[in-house]
Amino acid sequence: METKRLVEKDPPLKKNDLILITGAGGFIGGNLALYFTKKGFTRVRAVDKKPLYEWYLKVPGVESLCLDVSQENNCRHACEGAVEVYQLAADMGGMGFIERFRVECLRSILINTHMIEAAYQSGVRRYFYSSSACAYNTDLQQDPNVRALKESDAYPAMAERGYGWEKLVSEMFCQEYWAERGLKTTIARFHNVYGPHGTWDGGREKAPAALCRKVIEAIDSGRKSITLWGDGTPTRSFMYIDDCVKGIDTIMHCDDLIATPINLGSSELVSVNELLSKVEKIAGVKLKRHYDLTAPRGVAGRNSDNTFIKKVLGWEPNTPLDKGLAATYRWIHEQYHNRKKGRRVVE
Ligand code: NAD
Repeated sequence: METKRLVEKDPPLKKNDLILITGAGGFIGGNLALYFTKKGFTRVRAVDKKPLYEWYLKVPGVESLCLDVSQENNCRHACEGAVEVYQLAADMGGMGFIERFRVECLRSILINTHMIEAAYQSGVRRYFYSSSACAYNTDLQQDPNVRALKESDAYPAMAERGYGWEKLVSEMFCQEYWAERGLKTTIARFHNVYGPHGTWDGGREKAPAALCRKVIEAIDSGRKSITLWGDGTPTRSFMYIDDCVKGIDTIMHCDDLIATPINLGSSELVSVNELLSKVEKIAGVKLKRHYDLTAPRGVAGRNSDNTFIKKVLGWEPNTPLDKGLAATYRWIHEQYHNRKKGRRVVE
């Protein structure tokens, strides 16, 4: 039988307490390092296995380390002295990646297994885990007119093969480290995050970045057409990066959310066709659409039910898609043309 633990109050977090962010060479981790630095935290440690020149953001004043945190020793080293840990490292990508590389996705279990143990051993105060909407039961996502997913919809479990199951088991680690060992963990299930300083080419990019790049390529090449994966009808919601980092901070410091998975996503649902129309409007073009029906397409529909987050935090991700997409398009446009001029960019 499970006994409920009492959540004791933390001492206030000081601006010189050490914050560790893993996966910080990637999209969300990099933006989170920037967010905490702007908030005045003076000791942020950023860790990623990628060489430093491949990081999307290298934030001045942040201790940036190149370490593979699927290795136990490296996790211990990374956690030394940390007061809070934000675990965002994962081998992941858009649909094309997670459908094709299930073994790679499952192997992220090594990262989460070693990181949470190292965090516990080194006495960190709080541990944040980045889960995903892919942890939800796929049977509930077979129709583009989806019912938005609420937190209890993860069980009975039928997660996305590979990537989703790894997330679900890692969530369970977080819940049991709290229940059995008293480590304060928090778990957010992200729904499609997009924005500047993320993957936009190379195979791991997600739909918003991929569509921005394809539209830019179509304009640049003078081609008046675009090829979409699938038939354009699948629906999703997309959360802007600024909402994501704010949500991570708020969830991490909410005592009512210890070891309790919560959706962190927008509830503005659009189809892939609608998403493309928005990008076309930003770019000022109209392209002929071709549909590649053999390409990976994922579930038919997925949206975030934000009843719980609104109840606990009195807030939900609310940047309008049009606004976030315009900023993302501008950034990718700049990257694309810099690359064309032969300037070094990170894809
Ligand atoms: P990302 O791929 O941009 O960043 C992940 C980073 O982790 C990469 O830089 C990668 O090099 C690093 N990494 C992988 N294995 C590592 C290892 N063994 N040691 C050290 N670093 C390692 O992805 P992201 O979009 O920033 O995602 C961050 C987290 O959020 C991940 O856990 C991801 O599963 C989760 N998530 C993201 C989204 C999204 O839409 N972006 C949606 C749901 C969940």
